[in-house]
Amino acid sequence: MQRREVLMGLAGGAAALAGCKPGAVAQPGGAAASARFEWRMYTTWPKNFPGLGTGAERLAERISQMSAGRLKVTVYGAGERVPALEVFDAVSRGSAQMGHGAAYYWKGKLASAPLFCTVPFGFTAQEQNAWLYYGGGMALWREAYERFNLMPFDAGNTGTQMAGWFNKPIDTLDDLKGLKMRVPGLGGEILSKLGVVPVNIPGGELFTALSTGTIDAAEFVGPYNDLAFGLHRAARYYYYPGWHEPGATLEAFVNLDAWKALPEDLQVIVQTACEATSHTMLAEMTARNNRALTTLVTEHGVDVRPLPNDILAALKVESEQYLAEAAKAEPLMARVAESISQFRDEMIRGTAIAEHAFLNARSA
Ligand code: CA
Repeated sequence: MQRREVLMGLAGGAAALAGCKPGAVAQPGGAAASARFEWRMYTTWPKNFPGLGTGAERLAERISQMSAGRLKVTVYGAGERVPALEVFDAVSRGSAQMGHGAAYYWKGKLASAPLFCTVPFGFTAQEQNAWLYYGGGMALWREAYERFNLMPFDAGNTGTQMAGWFNKPIDTLDDLKGLKMRVPGLGGEILSKLGVVPVNIPGGELFTALSTGTIDAAEFVGPYNDLAFGLHRAARYYYYPGWHEPGATLEAFVNLDAWKALPEDLQVIVQTACEATSHTMLAEMTARNNRALTTLVTEHGVDVRPLPNDILAALKVESEQYLAEAAKAEPLMARVAESISQFRDEMIRGTAIAEHAFLNARSA
């Protein structure tokens, strides 16, 4: 592909960056209906990692199939072309046309990025989608990523995660002090207020880090993914709930030049494939997390425990304070935080009356 791009010369440069094949040069404002495109998708997940990597594969397949091959997307797992945490930059500069990951990995580049993934004590998956599609969230996300020459999409959700794996019981706030824990995003910021030393490392490196004692604790996703990484062999105590990631959105993002070069029908196909992937990934996670949790307990003897109420209460206080403080630091961050805060207040009332009351009645 690179050699072809060179051969196309200056006139075809924009089309090459956009992944448009030679002989079908993109027209201003979009490509001819006959144009064919070959895109690379870099992901932050190991190739075909359960739920997340397979979700990215399914997304690529859907786009290729729905477009009858006019837009062919090839997926590269973490480390195949670029390391997991360089995917955002690679797509931003056009080395790949598309990426799949989680927005909280990009906190160092964009303060508001984690808020588009999940917020501690924030939204469940259902509420998160409500905010993105009907609460103004998606418009803010697009505005945030535009400065990086990227177009974001909701392309997955993990559902409510677990609090994480610990190599010792967590009974009191003192037990958190000095604990070196893999916990990216805002969860790490908030735990640091309670004395935890947060570390951000990609999922694929978690088992080694936890089993060798490089870190004392780690959160990744939930039972399905954590079982696949063998984290139950690296730590004994598995805590819940995932207060820090109550409904984490997985994202796709597209290089804006590549996006603009697509004809409208292919744009709709990309968008629709992302939405469909979000839907099926959540369904898969929900079904398989429950089965994997049973396996962890019955076959591997994992000690599953709730975080003590006073620790959750302290985390909630720190979460609210952190968001209020962080919002002052950056104008866009302030607008996103305000949007989430307002929408969450509405959701808390409605969810308590509908889902919460129902779930309590069902499990009683
Ligand atoms: Ca997580």
